[in-house]
Amino acid sequence: LLQLFIPLNNLGFVYREMRESLINIERMFGLLYQPPQVADRLDAVPLRGNGGEVAFEDVHFGYQPERPILHGVSFTVPRGHKVALVGPSGAGKSTIARLLFRFYDVDSGRIRVNGQDIRDVTQESLRAAIGVVPQDTVLFNDTIRYNIAYGNPEATEAQILDAVRRAHLDHFIEQLPNGLETVVGERGLKVSGGEKQRIAIARVLLKNPPLLVLDEATSSLDSASEQAILATLQEVAEDRTTLAIAHRLSTIRDADTILVLEAGRVVERGSHDELLARDGPYARLWHYQDRQQRLATNQETVAAR
Ligand code: ADP
Ligand code: MG
Repeated sequence: LLQLFIPLNNLGFVYREMRESLINIERMFGLLYQPPQVADRLDAVPLRGNGGEVAFEDVHFGYQPERPILHGVSFTVPRGHKVALVGPSGAGKSTIARLLFRFYDVDSGRIRVNGQDIRDVTQESLRAAIGVVPQDTVLFNDTIRYNIAYGNPEATEAQILDAVRRAHLDHFIEQLPNGLETVVGERGLKVSGGEKQRIAIARVLLKNPPLLVLDEATSSLDSASEQAILATLQEVAEDRTTLAIAHRLSTIRDADTILVLEAGRVVERGSHDELLARDGPYARLWHYQDRQQRLATNQETVAAR
């Protein structure tokens, strides 16, 4: 047993890396279990070009063959554009993000990045090109520095400090006794939802990917923190190809194109103004959330009296 144990122990650092990348990937999209492995083709090539254009072409997909989830989804995100996905819970928004990351392969149709079918490229190069700001960032029980540099282990001190500033984490870190060396996570300093999201943003800034996937679940934040995070996310998305999953429509008004997804189908697409004028599902969702927002604001005002 000892003989078995010692080499395993020597591999501890490899194990740690593997384990952390699994945690990161699994939790990124709220997956509760390990998805089946998608394998690289033997002749897989690195993703070409920088700056990503994303195209979904008549994508059909189901987690189980007997239960299709996406029924022919097509859209493009031109380089540097921002496309938002909205729609009720269970519509398939996160599934689209998972397929782009190639956690699963499509049943039919295809997904292209920079013109290449993502089944023809190495997963490593695909995932290196995509930055994700998830709705619930999981921090490692390690220093803030480690948690940020995770996005780019070769980052220099100057690059880390720059990412900290651009993610608006500098004031938070300055008031910590150990600054960047402060240990966070379950066994360290507890950080708020907004700060966790900023750490995820700093991580993405260091990684500097051409493609960005945002899960804009800022509903757990109060409205001041939400506005601040949204402004930061907008800065990060500037000049990048962005796919934003929106929970509150007010956060994606500025998107170049909004896709309304219902039960695995795109039922409407257009800019905010176009969709409001059409007075269809998007407009109904918008007016509904607007009413909810007013009610909540009234309650906050009453509570404050
Ligand atoms: P959304 O992000 O729009 O709320 P999802 O893409 O997460 O929706 O889910 C779409 C549908 O796929 C839902 O019916 C959900 O239950 C189902 N689903 C999501 N993940 C899995 C999974 N890992 N295995 C089986 N079904 C899943
Ligand atoms: Mg989702």
